[in-house]
Order: sequence, then C-alpha cells, then structure tokens
Amino acid sequence: MNIPHLDLKKLNAPYAEEMKRAAAEVIDSGWFLNGKRVAEFERQMSEMHGGAECVAVSNGLDAIRLIASAYIKTGRLKPGDEVIVPANTYIASLIGLTEMGLTVVSAEPDPITLNLDTNRLGEYLTPRTRAVMVVHLYGNPCWDRQLMDFATENNLLIIEDNAQAIGAQAAVNGLNGSCLTGTLGHAAAFSFYPTKNIGALGDAGAVVTHDSELAKAVRALANYGSDRRYHNIYTGYNCRMDELQAAMLTIKLHHIDEEIERRNKIADIYDREIANPLIVKPSATPGTTHVWHQYVIRSAHRDALREYLTDKGIGTDIHYPTPPHLQPCYTDLRHAPLPITERLATEELSLPIGSVTPEESTYIATTLNNFTARLLSFEDI
Ligand SMILES: *Cc1c(COP(=O)(O)O)cnc(C)c1O
Repeated sequence: MNIPHLDLKKLNAPYAEEMKRAAAEVIDSGWFLNGKRVAEFERQMSEMHGGAECVAVSNGLDAIRLIASAYIKTGRLKPGDEVIVPANTYIASLIGLTEMGLTVVSAEPDPITLNLDTNRLGEYLTPRTRAVMVVHLYGNPCWDRQLMDFATENNLLIIEDNAQAIGAQAAVNGLNGSCLTGTLGHAAAFSFYPTKNIGALGDAGAVVTHDSELAKAVRALANYGSDRRYHNIYTGYNCRMDELQAAMLTIKLHHIDEEIERRNKIADIYDREIANPLIVKPSATPGTTHVWHQYVIRSAHRDALREYLTDKGIGTDIHYPTPPHLQPCYTDLRHAPLPITERLATEELSLPIGSVTPEESTYIATTLNNFTARLLSFEDI
C-alpha cells in the first residue's frame, strides 16, 4: 500500500480534460485579467451564496488582508482595534489582520469541535474588541447561538475565514442547516489554494459579503485602489484573480456537491470503523454540515502513531505543528495562556481524505485499530 495524504493529480483527474480545453480557450482568447471568466466565476459564487457579492481575488491571505483593509478604509475598523481569533488556526488568518495594523487576541478552541470555544469568548473581551474572526477549521462550521449573541451584545463584526469550508452549512436562528458558511457573518475570505476542497491550479481566493459598501472597497483595493479606470480612490494593491484560474474554478465549482459527498463518505467510514482507545475521532458541531477539508484525529501518542502509519504506507499530515503564537514572527503577540491550543498541536494528526477511495479508507481504519500500546517505544510512554 502507498496512500499519500493527498494526491492532487488524482483529485483533478476527473476534470483534467475539461480543464485543458478551458485553458486552451483562455490562451486563444488573449485576455488574461479582468475578463468574462472572472465575472462568470463571481456570478457563480454569488448565486451559490444566496446573492451575496463575490470579489474574486489572488489568494486566501489577500482575501483576509482586503477585508481588513476595506473595513479600515470605510472607517469601520481602525488600527489597534482588537479581533478575537482562534489560537489554533493556520497562521494566514492572523497575518491578514496584523499586517493591516489590527490587534489579534488569540482565543482557545474547544477540544472537541477544534473550533473557537464560544463559551469562553467573554474572557477575551476588552473595550477595544471590535470583531471576531471565526475559522471553520478543517471544514467544520464554527457557528452557534453563543457566538451570535456575543457579537450582537457587544456590537462586533464577524469575519469568517472560510478557506477550508466552502459549501458547509450551519443553522441560523433555528433554520436548521440552511445557511452556507461564508454568508453567516459580515464578510468572508475564501481560498482556492490547490489542496483546498475547491482548488485552483495555482493561487486564488475570494471575498464574499452581503455588504455592498465593503464589496466595493474590496474590489477597488484589489485593483490598485481604483474604482474606475485611471481613477484611484485608495492606494491599493494588486490582488486580482486571473482568467485562467477563474476558468478552472468554474469547472470545479459545478461539481462541489459531488466533492462534498465524496469526502463525507470517507469520513463516515472513518467514523464507523476507527475504534481504538488511543485515538480520539473528530466530531461535527451539532446543527451543522461538515465538509471534511481534513479528518483530524487526536492521540497522546501522535508521533509514534504517525511513524507507524508511514511504515504501513499511509501518508498523514499535521495541521498544525506550531500554533501562530509560538512562531518566531509572533513573539510580540500578547496572549493569555493557551494550554489547549498547545496540547492540540502535539496530538493532532490529519488522515488522508481528499483523494482516497472507500477501500483505502477501510484499510487505514483497520491499520489504525491495530495500533496498540505494545507498539509504542519506551520514549513514547
Ligand atoms: C489556506 C488558508 C488560508 C490562506 O489561503 P491562501 O490561499 O493559501 O493564501 C487562510 N486561512 C486558512 C484557515 C487556510 O486554511
């Protein structure tokens, strides 16, 4: 057996022929930026997200930067304002905010959902708190009544980092499972990095929001700050999505339901078949639909388990081995103690889910079940 954690060639194979034709059309068109393919992709995203506006951008980090910058340019946030962010997220969630001068306040996750512990949000509130960034980590929606009440009571913006959860759903005001992540808060950042559930053949991202003033600012900022040709209302950036990526993404977005279904099937097999007291399986947040960007198990013997799986030909990954607050670039990040985040970083292990077959996932589950304390070396115990 040789099962990589993710095989991008295999993942894209069903779309490869259609993609090659679309790429040839873009080349032949001679039109590479700000064209009809980006417009079509934005229309498709908007339609999928209940009519919210979509601005196609260069990548997920830029989507977050542009949201932060647009809130500042439109006067709704200012440098120094505090944003509560889950401490166990991918570092890009933070970079997009701190680079724009916002202050990140790292908050502990719930060790079961691996998302922000919404019961503890009050601990991080100060007179300077202006926003919460929810990250739907691993494809699991971070959304519940406590979060909504906390944001409303304290007049906070909710920014969604939806890089890992396109197509996931959460209940809003009792509408069970009917709202897509990316439309739950005030503005959302999407990533189409090649390994994401809908991946481009390079970098790409998007901002989705029902706030048309914000969308307008994001659109201008992504294009040098110009609202129309040779007219600059801001000193902006160059964060555009190109026509080639838009053409690729339009193809894949048509098949998002099958992609989600495929991942759910594998997650169901893992849920059903993995049974080992040394392993904790992930759980979806009640009232939401998970899209399984990653299937992240936990074990106190993570490193030994990973080595054991490697020996059996099973590739795994660690999301994420070092939390942002322990990175050399963030030594100045002030934060309360984060013992849960730090423990999770030593226990989490991501199993193959994006490109495995049901048969392979059954083999992986059986192999996991055969991992026993007997297989641990002295140092692991
Ligand atoms: C991938 C990712 C990003 C960054 O997206 P890029 O397109 O790689 O810039 C941001 N946040 C999270 C949670 C991600 O997983």
